[in-house]
Amino acid sequence: MYDLVINGGEIIDPVDGIYPANLGIEKNRIASIGPEIMKGKREVEADGCYVSPGFIDLHSHENGLKNGSIEKGIFESSVLMGVTTSVGGNCGMGPVALSDYRQAIEKHGAPLNYAALSGHALLREAAGCTDRYGHATKKQVEKMDSLLREALHEGASGLSVGLEYTPGASTEEVLELSKTVAEYDDRLIAVHYRFDGERSLEAVAELIIVARETGARMQISHLGSGTAFGKTDEALSMIESASNAGIDLGFDVYPYDAFCSLIGSPVFDEGCLQRWGVDYSAIKVVEGKYSGQLCTPEIFMEKRAHEPQSMVVAFVMDEKEIFRAMQHPMAIIASDGRIISGQGHPRSAGTFPRVLGKYVREQGCLDLVDAINKMTSMPAERLRLGSRGRIKEGFFADLTVFDYDQIIDRATYEEPTLSPDGINVVIVNGVEVVKSSKMTGNLPGVFLDR
Ligand SMILES: [Zn+2]
Repeated sequence: MYDLVINGGEIIDPVDGIYPANLGIEKNRIASIGPEIMKGKREVEADGCYVSPGFIDLHSHENGLKNGSIEKGIFESSVLMGVTTSVGGNCGMGPVALSDYRQAIEKHGAPLNYAALSGHALLREAAGCTDRYGHATKKQVEKMDSLLREALHEGASGLSVGLEYTPGASTEEVLELSKTVAEYDDRLIAVHYRFDGERSLEAVAELIIVARETGARMQISHLGSGTAFGKTDEALSMIESASNAGIDLGFDVYPYDAFCSLIGSPVFDEGCLQRWGVDYSAIKVVEGKYSGQLCTPEIFMEKRAHEPQSMVVAFVMDEKEIFRAMQHPMAIIASDGRIISGQGHPRSAGTFPRVLGKYVREQGCLDLVDAINKMTSMPAERLRLGSRGRIKEGFFADLTVFDYDQIIDRATYEEPTLSPDGINVVIVNGVEVVKSSKMTGNLPGVFLDR
């Protein structure tokens, strides 16, 4: 008698492939995999469905804390699309105080497992460098470094940097901090490149150099939104050559041709429209005043001046290049999701079902097991998570049961939090967090310590 069993499904494992089997789960681990019908205190019927390792989202943006608790926002959208582990603190941002965030999860639980990167922009501010266009002094970099060491000691999975958001950060500053990350062989440095569009290859080259010079394990964040302006193929071959030369590099992609950011950020500084080859109407307001409208020059200026912290979506990338980036054997699928007051980009609630429904089932441009690998085992290895990301006896029971005929994203730019079809059951550490495609209210997720 197991604590939980899953009968009748087909296992889909990134290494062993697809085969019919039933699962017995004891506490938080997979105890048994076999052809016999298992008996459990709780049972999941998976007839006609695949049982996959839960999706591991290497790139997400967590919500803040309110009275010591985490707002539901992105965690709920993530779990409903099959994510069982989420990495926050990306693009240089992140939980302001890692220890408070960790405490909140340890005290109240969470619907999924959470790992955090330490955000460079926050370290920078804490070190007294408040001008994102300004260079940091040697002393400030030293202060950042000691704060980074503290965060790594507290269990951060690495450092995240958003060079496009802090243009004043020099390559030397990044090199210094990367050396510290490189002292730990299980941590990552995840970087949102310095330039997108026209200058994106230069930006990719900078990150390859940082990884080469320091030995830090480099993850290039959401590559497509930087290079899908006619530069993706060249960027992929640069990454491939560097990786073949032994540099520890990885990259992730989200399956959309529009990006989302805060309108006040340096991404939208003078020259951005020329860089992307678009006009103001390519930018859609998704939060605050004018929400739902495409920008005019007047709306754009007004939003930047008065609501710089509000999100907009820019329809500027080439979808075919996004495909090609996803198809690359090194590509990891990650959402870059962020939900603020129910608003944001549909990738936050649609990424994984969209890849499986649209790109695997409908268009056949990715193999099913390959796609699952890019969502589970590959990110688990990148994060050195150990016993997650596969379906194996002794591994954590983080599982997503989905109906391949039904699976598809439903989130849109108008309704970015609409949950997908086809994600039936999600299990985190042996406990159901989604049943019949609805949240159960269970909070078995843990802070993933290092
Ligand atoms: Zn980013």
